[in-house]
Amino acid sequence: MDLVFSRLDDSVARFTISGANLAFANSLRRTMIGEVPTIAIEDVRIYDNTSVLFDEILAHRLGLVPIKTDLSQFVPRNKCTCDDIGCQQCTITFTLSVEGPGVVTSGDLISMDPRIVPVHKNIPIVKLWEGQKVVLEAIAELNTGSEHAKWQPTLACGYKEFPIITIHDSCDVCGKCVVECPRDVLEVSDNTIHIRVVNGESKEKDCSMCRLCETACVSSGIGENPAITIDADSTKFIFVVESDGSLPVKEIIERALLHIKLRSIDLTDALQDIFAEGL
Ligand code: SF4
Ligand code: SF4
Ligand SMILES: [Zn+2]
Repeated sequence: MDLVFSRLDDSVARFTISGANLAFANSLRRTMIGEVPTIAIEDVRIYDNTSVLFDEILAHRLGLVPIKTDLSQFVPRNKCTCDDIGCQQCTITFTLSVEGPGVVTSGDLISMDPRIVPVHKNIPIVKLWEGQKVVLEAIAELNTGSEHAKWQPTLACGYKEFPIITIHDSCDVCGKCVVECPRDVLEVSDNTIHIRVVNGESKEKDCSMCRLCETACVSSGIGENPAITIDADSTKFIFVVESDGSLPVKEIIERALLHIKLRSIDLTDALQDIFAEGL
């Protein structure tokens, strides 16, 4: 199996996996979304709230604030040695105290640990009028997206099969498919239809498989079978993964792959035990 990045920075990765299958591609997607842990606010103690929002809505909004996560420093609360009481290894406390007028934002959350802070300081939580007040303490902890969406480390996370575009000998170079293609994938040159190459990269991977080119080709009067056909390579997948900023996107991918590997080992061991018992 090969993994080739065409874009990789802290927030976005675009890569192609070849030599895989649909089951693996979907496992990777689901694992990145649901099994890579991040920190999010879970418990909120409200000491004063005279804003227009109910306590529950306020707590819900705080839970959705992405928080920078250092996985080398924290363990999930239910696996911590403190027996789920909450200690420095498994929880982080934030305080917030704001009086109106003004907008309470994620930047008003004061962390007890300077490494664990909101990813963005300007996420609005609630607007306060003159005399309104919010005073609270929020406890954040590590967990996964399979428990609640607020612990998902990804924003966009999806894949598609790699497109295969074939131009057949029956093509009469009428150019209708070039005009119809919404992704600018095709061109006419040397009296032939080609897949465009931009900055040394083939545009084939940009094809959305909308098949408008096939329809345009048939409508040109060429016959029942289009001279251009679109297929999908079911062993090759293009992924786009966007982090919410809690973890670098490379760490999300690496941890998801490690998780799949460890779960596969667990499954193999369990199957071996079953077979050993059966013999
Ligand atoms: S399938 Fe759609 S995007 Fe792909 S080449 Fe044809 S028209 Fe363009
Ligand atoms: S529409 Fe069909 S016949 Fe015309 S250029 Fe495209 S593939 Fe060739
Ligand atoms: Zn603990």
